[in-house]
Amino acid sequence: MIKFLNLQRVNLQYHEEIEAKLLGTFRSGSYLLGNEVKNFEKNLSKYIGSPNAIGVANGLDALRLIFKAYLELGQMKVGDEVIVPANTYIASILAITDNRLRPVFAEPDIENYNLDLSKIEDLITPKTKAIMVVHLYGQICWSEELETLANKYNLKIIEDNAQSIGAEWNTIKTGNLGDAAGFSFYPGKNLGALGDAGAVTCKDALLAKIIRALANYGAEDKYITKYQGLNSRLDEIQAGILDVKLKYIDTDNEKRRKIANRYCQEITNPKIILPKLPTNSKEHVWHLYVIRTSEREKLKRYLLENDIQTLIHYPIPPHKQQAYKNYNHLSLPITEKIHKHALSLPISPVMDMVEVSTIIDAINKF
Ligand SMILES: *Cc1c(COP(=O)(O)O)cnc(C)c1O
Repeated sequence: MIKFLNLQRVNLQYHEEIEAKLLGTFRSGSYLLGNEVKNFEKNLSKYIGSPNAIGVANGLDALRLIFKAYLELGQMKVGDEVIVPANTYIASILAITDNRLRPVFAEPDIENYNLDLSKIEDLITPKTKAIMVVHLYGQICWSEELETLANKYNLKIIEDNAQSIGAEWNTIKTGNLGDAAGFSFYPGKNLGALGDAGAVTCKDALLAKIIRALANYGAEDKYITKYQGLNSRLDEIQAGILDVKLKYIDTDNEKRRKIANRYCQEITNPKIILPKLPTNSKEHVWHLYVIRTSEREKLKRYLLENDIQTLIHYPIPPHKQQAYKNYNHLSLPITEKIHKHALSLPISPVMDMVEVSTIIDAINKF
């Protein structure tokens, strides 16, 4: 069986360094807010090029905390609108609604699955305060026009960078393009911990200070509660492991690009629509390799019969979820089409080229 993602193999690549970190933290007696978190934050900040990095408990919290801090700063208020792609993982939307802000769903470009930036201006109202860009599946969602638009209407740009650590737009990394960014280090992400973990990067030092406090009960100093915060800290064990794996993220992403290139060049079955390779290869880190076909269920079953595991990202769009009844009536045909036809093929830094060939052959024979 070719697994969709062999996490054991992914982490065993670095087993000596990871095991040393685990043991070191175990023996140190320091499990929260210690040196491992400080080091990882420093190295993440350097890698991304952002002046501020704050470790938090997971990716959803990273995004929630960004909006929560803007509310504390008075730069957003309850009921304000955030433009967000309709085709994203549910966590992007939860971060907005959890802060009693209103998501305004925007359709993607069917060719690259990212926000269709030409359609955003029509969605802006006097209540719009931010655009959340999601670099979906590992591909950058950015343009100069987007920056111009944000400046023109005085909007914040929040990046959901959960799937795209390491991607670069004109040498600027995702996580350093907008005003603030949320990262997820869920085990299956390109940079994955051995449990839940996340981070925020942002340009504004005051925003960073508030986010750091909000993630620690709202306290800047112990037992002095300045804000109604959360407990959302990154722990020492996860930070140590992430610090090890951060050194290899570019190498790991390069391996993903090699596999994506082969899929793009060698899958020739006309029933399959492949994702487009960006002109600049650094604009994609291939968290997922998502193809489209009107025969998705049949292809998925056929691949499984051939011992190839695939997944669907994602089967139901946020506006059609039960949790978002108020939005169920919306019609977003491009988003809905993607959710009906998308299928994710295995891609990871530990797949070997024989496995890749097996997958390509099987798909071409479908
Ligand atoms: C994984 C993910 C998140 C949430 O991250 P968690 O660490 O699982 O909370 C948010 N947005 C996107 C696009 C994701 O893929």
